[in-house]
Amino acid sequence: TSGITNVTVLGTGVLGSQIAFQSAYAGFTVTAYDISDEIIDKAKHRFADLAKTYEAEVPGARDGGAQAALDRLTGTADLAKAVADADLVIEAVPERIDIKRDTWTKVGQFAPAKTIFATNSSTLLPSQIEDATGRPDRFLALHFANQIWKFNTAEVMGTADTDPAVFDRVVAYAHEMGMVPIPIHKEKAGYVLNSLLVPLLHAAQELAAFGYAEPKDIDDVWRIGTGAPKGPFEILDVVGLTTPYNILMSGGETEKKIAAWLKENYIDKGKLGLLSGEGFYKY
Ligand code: NAD
Repeated sequence: TSGITNVTVLGTGVLGSQIAFQSAYAGFTVTAYDISDEIIDKAKHRFADLAKTYEAEVPGARDGGAQAALDRLTGTADLAKAVADADLVIEAVPERIDIKRDTWTKVGQFAPAKTIFATNSSTLLPSQIEDATGRPDRFLALHFANQIWKFNTAEVMGTADTDPAVFDRVVAYAHEMGMVPIPIHKEKAGYVLNSLLVPLLHAAQELAAFGYAEPKDIDDVWRIGTGAPKGPFEILDVVGLTTPYNILMSGGETEKKIAAWLKENYIDKGKLGLLSGEGFYKY
């Protein structure tokens, strides 16, 4: 077992609110921190909305479980107070190295010696942050997916300095909070999921952009050929087309050509994916 009881989540945005709620739903005592009382008030609405989502989508949540989770959640804009008795701090503040490092410097000063530190960063490596914490041996990445209650992987990835005992406790915690823990043995940008997904999506866009085949047909090949539930363009519509566009624009000549194709045929026409009603498909 993890030996963890009190969990503090830093940031109550898209992922932070989900991590906090899921932890409370699993029975942990959770403190959610954000930068102002105003945002903490908004977070309370987010938690109430999540309770409704769980009641609709998570088997068993209607039997009082989702409401009980709300009772185990408190919010505060006082960082020192938030971490004062934390066994585990999970950070989900904006994906900016300066904000992450600044946040961890403060947490490192305020948190007791027992506290384990984890970052939910998608694109930064924990070794880029570890020294700011003041305790690299107790710091690692714990990476969740959006819609944690359905897509329940938790990728656990330490640095060369992470104490293996700390790593094991975080793997145990991920399991206890209802995730499927994915231990990653050494640092890898993109973890497992994006190491697989980004090249797949890239290859699909390259095939379509350079005129080899139509998006719909490429999706058919992937679904029929592998039994996967979604093809790469269906996945791209869920992700939204702006993120792949930005990634492609930071690449080389080939990537920039693919980006131009994406912009001209989709983004400039307002086809941004599922949330805009149309991307590669109409919704
Ligand atoms: P978000 O913008 O929705 O939320 C960020 C939260 O941090 C906000 O509530 C904001 O008020 C708060 N914040 C701003 N400045 C802060 C500061 N100085 N200190 C503390 N809190 C501050 O972002 P998000 O999408 O939830 O992403 C948060 C982290 O989770 C990022 O590292 C991101 O890479 C990671 N992540 C996101 C997703 C996703 O699908 N959105 C998936 C996996 C991991």
